[in-house]
Amino acid sequence: MNVIERTPYRTNPKPIFILGFDYCMDQDGFFKCNKCFRRYKRRHGVVQHQRYECGKSPQFKCGVCSRTFAHKASLKYHVKCLHMTQKDS
Ligand SMILES: [Zn+2]
Ligand SMILES: [Zn+2]
Repeated sequence: MNVIERTPYRTNPKPIFILGFDYCMDQDGFFKCNKCFRRYKRRHGVVQHQRYECGKSPQFKCGVCSRTFAHKASLKYHVKCLHMTQKDS
């Protein structure tokens, strides 16, 4: 008689490997960056974080004052707030 032994399933944080990204799932279901240990609720969040932020210098540069931003949205906001004198399309 065969007895199938069930290994107790525990939700260990498992590393998830996706091309160029390095994060794992937390016990709370959060996605955790393996490099700086920031946590994100959504996978998209940690992917975006690693693509644009983690270990990288800000990529979005203001064409007016040369300030750099990690997020495109931040740059947009910056331009909107500080350089709103000119209208661009
Ligand atoms: Zn990170
Ligand atoms: Zn600027």
